[in-house]
Order: sequence, then C-alpha cells, then structure tokens
Amino acid sequence: MSGSEPGAPPRRCRDAGERRALLEHAFALGVPRDYGRKRKLRLQREPARLASIGEDIHGRPQWLQPRAARALAHLREAATNAGVELQVVSAFRSIEYQLGIVERKRARGLSMDEILRVSAAPGYSEHHTGRCVDFTAPGFEALEEEFERSPAFRWLQRNAAGYGFTLSYPRGNLHGIVFEPWHWCWHSPTLCQERHGFARHSGAGRTA
Ligand SMILES: [Zn+2]
Repeated sequence: MSGSEPGAPPRRCRDAGERRALLEHAFALGVPRDYGRKRKLRLQREPARLASIGEDIHGRPQWLQPRAARALAHLREAATNAGVELQVVSAFRSIEYQLGIVERKRARGLSMDEILRVSAAPGYSEHHTGRCVDFTAPGFEALEEEFERSPAFRWLQRNAAGYGFTLSYPRGNLHGIVFEPWHWCWHSPTLCQERHGFARHSGAGRTA
C-alpha cells in the first residue's frame, strides 16, 4: 500500500443508548425537539462497518460504508477516464462529530437557528450513514455553490445516477436545506426498491 495508512475507522455509537444520549445532548444545546418532523429529515444510523476511501483534499483519512466505498471507486474511475477530477472534501461523519461542530459554534456565540441553517442537527445528517460524499474540483472553492459551474458537477449530473449516487439537496428541496451541488449520496438499489417501490436509482426514491 502506498501513502499513509488510514488507521482505525472513526468511532461510532456503541448502541442505541449512546445514540439517545448524544441526541438528548443536542436537544439540551437548543436543537428543537420537532426538528426532524419540521424539516422532514429522519434520524440516520451509523454503519457497522467502514472502508477507507483514501484522503480528502486536506489530507485527512475518509471513510464510507463498504458498498458505498466500492461505488465511489467506480464513479471516480469513470470520471478520471472522462478527464474529470472529483476531489473528496468529506464523507462519513459520526453523530458525535456533528455534535462537536454544533457545540463549538454555540461556544462561539452563534444561535441554534444560525447553526441549523448550514449544519444538520446531530443525528440527522446524511453523512452519518457513510453513504454520502461532499465533492469539489480543482479551481473551485469547496462547499460553495460555484461548484455547480464546474465540469465535475456537470459530469456528475449526467453520470452519477448510473453508479447509484444522487444529489440530495437540489434547489427548492422539501427540507429547506440550501442548494448543495457538492453533496451526493449513494443509495442501495435493493433498499430503494424495498422502501419506495421505485425503479433502480430513478432518483425519485429518496427521502432524507
Ligand atoms: Zn454533505
């Protein structure tokens, strides 16, 4: 193996009790108890297993659940073959990690309203599932709307669905989340069919 070893995957909740404790902590910090219902977002589960996907643009090791990691490898290979570079900004993030983000922002004096405008409440981020990736491309500011104008975004729009990845938060999404052209989520074909009865990766099967 070349480069640095990824080390151990990030820690996840041991059990439902620990998960519940983290959610209660978030409510105590000011996350509204009806947040999920109001935003039409569901509680997300962390994966039992994580596979390394290499390092992000900041040199930090990143992880996805194994099937999503394989799908990402195929997606990136196809992009590379098309002359398109897809860089990873962020992938799996634990509930505990998300709670840390919210805590630090509260400590800096931001209101919970301000925080929840740009960050998902702990427990509700799609990144907890280990199936989502934030992409960027050379010459574009990470996690900014300008990614929409990149060749990488245009390539993803045409090709990502073929690898099981869909854009989670388009303009005017029903969750009231800002347009995130960088955030793509892999959906298991069987899961989509079982849950929603939709054809494979139609893009219509998603409920956040
Ligand atoms: Zn994201």
